[in-house]
Amino acid sequence: MNKAESLRIASYLDFLSYQVAPSLREADLVVLNTCVVRQSAEDKVLGTLGLLKGLKKEHPNLSILVTGCFVDSNIAGLKRRFPQVDFFFKPGAYPELTNWAQKQGISTAEQGLLRYARNDTWKSPSPCAFVPVIQGCNKFCSYCIVPYRRGREVSRPLEEVVCEVKGLVKQGVREVILLGQNVDSYGHDLPGNPDLADLLTKLNNINDLARIRFLTNHPRDISQSLIEAMAFLDKVCEHLELPIQSGDDDILKAMRRGYTVEQYRKLIHAIRYHIPQISLSTDIIVGFPGETEEQFEHTYSLLEEMRFDVVHVAAYSPRPGTIAGRKYEDTVPPEVKRERFNKIEQLQANIATELNSAYRGKTMEVLVEGERKGKWYGRTRSDKLVFFENKDDCTGQLVKIRIEKTSPWALQGKVGYNS
Ligand code: SF4
Repeated sequence: MNKAESLRIASYLDFLSYQVAPSLREADLVVLNTCVVRQSAEDKVLGTLGLLKGLKKEHPNLSILVTGCFVDSNIAGLKRRFPQVDFFFKPGAYPELTNWAQKQGISTAEQGLLRYARNDTWKSPSPCAFVPVIQGCNKFCSYCIVPYRRGREVSRPLEEVVCEVKGLVKQGVREVILLGQNVDSYGHDLPGNPDLADLLTKLNNINDLARIRFLTNHPRDISQSLIEAMAFLDKVCEHLELPIQSGDDDILKAMRRGYTVEQYRKLIHAIRYHIPQISLSTDIIVGFPGETEEQFEHTYSLLEEMRFDVVHVAAYSPRPGTIAGRKYEDTVPPEVKRERFNKIEQLQANIATELNSAYRGKTMEVLVEGERKGKWYGRTRSDKLVFFENKDDCTGQLVKIRIEKTSPWALQGKVGYNS
């Protein structure tokens, strides 16, 4: 979501004739888009604000803008703590950015930023564009800061999203990734209650759009109709991000996740039944307050059983103001968290090695996103990263790649073979 918002902000500034500075030191304007999901992320924000304070001393004309989850409702307090910042605005609050730009006397601001703020198309630098469709979250998982910083769920009208995607496709975008903290909640707050399956169905009809993805899903809210729509709609890719967070029922309860391990297991079986070629990613938090060795083992064995394609693992980090931050002590020592973290990473590296090696010799359709270190790269429909060599620029094209080498994290292959 932050990446999507940063791209939009960059696009607005581009419209106002700003150019990307070659380095931080040469910038006239810095927009810091922040994340405070864990203490380490918040520490990075504080470190960067310190660095910017020093830069501003050297260049008093430097404007510093801060947005993202660091910006809470006490903006006056933030201004007092960080006087080097010229302007704070809440995540996604583009009209506030407009107002700031207007006050600076930037003449195109009104036509430019307001037009963008009304969701006309922004410029995507990649053939794969992030499109936020619902902001905020109503779930209040006990460890999570998001509902406090991004507020309650607000969906964008279905036609507005369709219009934006059509505009992006006209620019050459081939894939859209629909975003929401809880994307499965999409539409419940809109007139007529359209749901995510309705949105996917509409987007699937857009000519020249090749692929649709969406994240992040919630095991409690993902519906049967969504699973069926995924199986039926040809442009919707066979990939799902479905965080479980823990493989232990008591920990799940303390996390306020709203499902049991057995319910999650049944859901995965239903998804794999309807979409046999699905690739699945999940998120895990290790070291939640009170997590015993046995409870951690439940998570470990669930991962062995489920064999996800990707596991994003994080060590629990108390967030002030959350339910867990208020209610529980951070009892699991850092070295135990690190050990559990490493165990899961090692397990997942082994599983991903096995799963990815099954791609060797197969020909996969790859949507090319760009070039990195002399190789072209893109993703399969199952979200596997693929590298290959080619003399011509093939960005934005769907190419057939025969996979020759695999690792837990990426595949490598050659162009031009057909299956
Ligand atoms: S569903 Fe996700 S975003 Fe919402 S509170 Fe839970 S962890 Fe946070």
